[in-house]
Amino acid sequence: MKSAQPPPPTAANRQRPRRRPDLTLPLPQRDPAIAVPLPLPPNSAPSSTTAASAAAAIQPINFSELDRINRIGSGSGGTVYKVAHRPTGKLYALKVIYGNHEESVRRQICREIEILRDVDNLNVVKCHDMYDHAGEIQVLLEYMDRGSLEGIHITNEAALADLTRQILSGIHYLHRKRIVHRDIKPSNLLVNSRKQVKIADFGVSRVLAQTMDPCNSSVGTIAYMSPERINTDLNQGRYDGYAGDIWSLGVSILEFYMGRFPFAVSRGGDWASLMCAICMSQPPEAPPTASRQFREFISCCLQRDPHRRWTANQLLRHPFVVQTNNGTPPNGSGGGSQVNQAHQLLPPPRPHPSSA
Ligand code: ATP
Ligand code: MG
Repeated sequence: MKSAQPPPPTAANRQRPRRRPDLTLPLPQRDPAIAVPLPLPPNSAPSSTTAASAAAAIQPINFSELDRINRIGSGSGGTVYKVAHRPTGKLYALKVIYGNHEESVRRQICREIEILRDVDNLNVVKCHDMYDHAGEIQVLLEYMDRGSLEGIHITNEAALADLTRQILSGIHYLHRKRIVHRDIKPSNLLVNSRKQVKIADFGVSRVLAQTMDPCNSSVGTIAYMSPERINTDLNQGRYDGYAGDIWSLGVSILEFYMGRFPFAVSRGGDWASLMCAICMSQPPEAPPTASRQFREFISCCLQRDPHRRWTANQLLRHPFVVQTNNGTPPNGSGGGSQVNQAHQLLPPPRPHPSSA
């Protein structure tokens, strides 16, 4: 290709005399105020904020740079502290897991936490780092500044539906990754000042490989456990952790609506009375004052037969959750005329989560 050069001087134009040597054309002056810079090629100047946040996301956080501010609370497995990262001033929650575990147990816990570090979802509390500090395991978590949903009472169905949708999104994400939480309950559902609800505490969750045994060990409070998990005779000894999480979600959501534990027994009651209430009576239902969508939603979660419970993916499309998500206020008591008739029948069998 030819270059755009001025024509070479010819013998004719080189020798032609200038008629008005006093006249010259001024060179155009560029006004810097109206100059438009050309965009730089991609990657030549990365946005500093994107680069900084990406770097922060992968930078390990040095344990010695964490200052404990105060103790947030304690549970059966450990104590949680609010900590500040000195170099950045960022706040985190540090969960110190009780006990100096045996080397093999410690390795197992660390392996599980390592996997959980890959978990990245808006509705799941982020696990940033993990430290094995003098034999004690400490997990650095995203700090949720409004604490847990334990003890809350929400009668506004629109607000409850929004909260439910967020929890379901987190559960759906975990189940798609073949992670069963196994300890969904109000104290493990955390909120921040941006009104984001996130699922916390993987102390007892397990990452399920397709070939692994169903989870059968008992950990955590039995109050939110499904009947077939407490009494393994109920489902021919089989326990489906995914369906178990849905039961726990249903009990928690109903508790938020009613403002109390929904069984005819205290949540802190002894094992035998909780076992009788959960395994030997009909599942609790939402009161008749609730909308039809909400009552049906609860019934889709609290099916005694685990196969009849809906999956997280199906529940995300339930009218109770969907209506509010679209900005349409949920119907009041008894006013669910446009609810699909199918929802009034027994829920369909659950497909395997891999197809969800
Ligand atoms: P259990 O261990 O018996 O299941 P628990 O969930 O209350 O009960 P922990 O998980 O140890 O016990 O939590 C202790 C307290 O710390 C709870 O009040 C919980 O809401 C709070 N907490 C846990 N993680 C965080 C976090 N990431 N941000 C803010 N608060 C948190
Ligand atoms: Mg917890």
